[in-house]
Amino acid sequence: MNQEPRKRDCFDACCLKLQNISVRIGNETILDNLSFHLHCGEMTALIGPNGAGKSTIIKTILGQQEYEGVISFSSPGLRHRRPPRIGYVPQSPTFDPGDPLSVADLFACCKSSRPTFLGHSKKTKAHILESLDRVNGKNLIDKRVGALSGGELQRVLLALALDPLPNILILDEPFSGVDAAGNEELMEMLNTIRHNYDLSILMITHDFSILRKYADQVILVDGTVLQTGTPDAVLSSNEFSQLFHRKEADTQ
Ligand code: ADP
Ligand code: MG
Repeated sequence: MNQEPRKRDCFDACCLKLQNISVRIGNETILDNLSFHLHCGEMTALIGPNGAGKSTIIKTILGQQEYEGVISFSSPGLRHRRPPRIGYVPQSPTFDPGDPLSVADLFACCKSSRPTFLGHSKKTKAHILESLDRVNGKNLIDKRVGALSGGELQRVLLALALDPLPNILILDEPFSGVDAAGNEELMEMLNTIRHNYDLSILMITHDFSILRKYADQVILVDGTVLQTGTPDAVLSSNEFSQLFHRKEADTQ
């Protein structure tokens, strides 16, 4: 399939463009000539089977993976071109359940140079509470990170990714380890955040049930972009059924 994305109006919108991205690791081609655009205020879901290269796309955008091709960011609000600020929520990091590290300690490690064992200054604590408030998580400040539920941990990681506010928020499978009620709460939160702060969200997910309600754009990948478009268009495409219905049939 032609790898140029469908025509979406980027003229007056801030936009991250990936053009003809290829990634090779050793002799293997992991991504081949992949292109898509992300717009501010929009939620884009990245879907594809395991091993399709979704996490590699994220690493590439984050600057952690060498690639060929062009990645560019434009924003009409910025007078000078500069790289976009990216907030990243990684895929299910694990914390030792017995670790004494609190949510406040975790924030302070990321936001302040003061040693955590000296305690947190009033200013740092106020800042942490402000950040946690964005995810309705002020009550989590003194909890141990290892004792958080899956949904609580995702909210704390989301608060960290939103501090300072990014242009682009990227989440790699945010629902692993989160129950159905937590999923819904997290999606509502992301939906509000992208409206309030006009940032673009790129989210890898295997939960296709949320796409029609929340995603503006869905990108189906398997080493390259197979389909992009509205949730309806992608979920009803031949490429989607070939990948997912064939796999379901194979496992029966
Ligand atoms: P996904 O997130 O869609 O499951 P990944 O991006 O993690 O897929 O991986 C895509 C492919 O690239 C897989 O076949 C994986 O084994 C391979 N891969 C990823 N990272 C490396 C690496 N550092 N070295 C070798 N192969 C890798
Ligand atoms: Mg992955």
